[in-house]
Amino acid sequence: MSTVQGRLRIAVQKSGRLADRSLDLVRDAGLRVIKGNNDLLYRVENYPIDLLRVRDDDIPTFVADGVCDLGIVGENVLEEGRNGGANAEVVMPLGFGRCTLKLAVPPTLDYAGPMSLNGKRIATSYPRILQRYLDAEGVKADIVVMRGAVEVAPRLKLASAICDLVSTGATLEANGLDARETVFESQAVLIRSPSGPEPALANLLESIVERMSGVVSSQGAKYVMLNAPRSALDAITAILPGAGAPTVMPLMGRDDAVAVHAVCQEAVFWETLEKLKAAGASAILVLPIEKMM
Ligand code: ATP
Ligand code: ZN
Repeated sequence: MSTVQGRLRIAVQKSGRLADRSLDLVRDAGLRVIKGNNDLLYRVENYPIDLLRVRDDDIPTFVADGVCDLGIVGENVLEEGRNGGANAEVVMPLGFGRCTLKLAVPPTLDYAGPMSLNGKRIATSYPRILQRYLDAEGVKADIVVMRGAVEVAPRLKLASAICDLVSTGATLEANGLDARETVFESQAVLIRSPSGPEPALANLLESIVERMSGVVSSQGAKYVMLNAPRSALDAITAILPGAGAPTVMPLMGRDDAVAVHAVCQEAVFWETLEKLKAAGASAILVLPIEKMM
């Protein structure tokens, strides 16, 4: 149960790679966030909700302990922090903050697979995830824990290899390292406390979760409208990417053609439009979706 009576608490990263997108998600879910004098706590003016702004590493514990009811954190941080005690529950992946924990080595290391790391030292900020990977691969290596600047470890002869988060690969390249193995794939996730909020706030919490889920699933989704010859209806609906059952409506004064409306969960590319057109579709419109529930 949250420690502050009568208010829900959501833990978000104060500053860093997840901070802006976390705040965007909260706002897109309809929460009006006001930045007061207190840098640690932002208030939501239209609901009894506070945002607790902390270091990402603290978020899983705060949520697991019920100090916060919800939290937004990278799966990598959540996974690294897992222990025998109560853990925060993952509600859903959020589609941002994507990165990969990779094993990378300098070109001077003769690498022929994870076994090449036997007896070597590997620097990382994620010792638990790495250890689990090494155990699964049957590799016995020494893990050197570094809080940051892991990529300089090989140059300083602190380690022969590193295991670090990568999104574009630019940092590895700048340090002359080659990514070799994927150890863990991560993105931001919404987590909730296993103990749940105080009963009076349970409905509010469910509605916030549902709204956030709507925001996430509408991202990238498009509303497609087109006219189609009846004879080509099956072919055309098969081309629409990630559409469920589309709505098919009659066109006034036309027996041979119908209007098709569909929500496409996946990106709609120009190539898709060209295929639709080739299959006989006309008057094709692709519209953004703001909210979905
Ligand atoms: P804090 O001060 O909150 O402890 P931090 O320095 O640990 O911040 P950031 O660098 O802001 O963390 O990264 C936060 C999260 O963003 C990571 O844990 C990871 O889930 C995600 N992320 C996405 N891309 C990258 C990347 N290229 N490198 C590191 N983290 C990334
Ligand atoms: Zn951190």
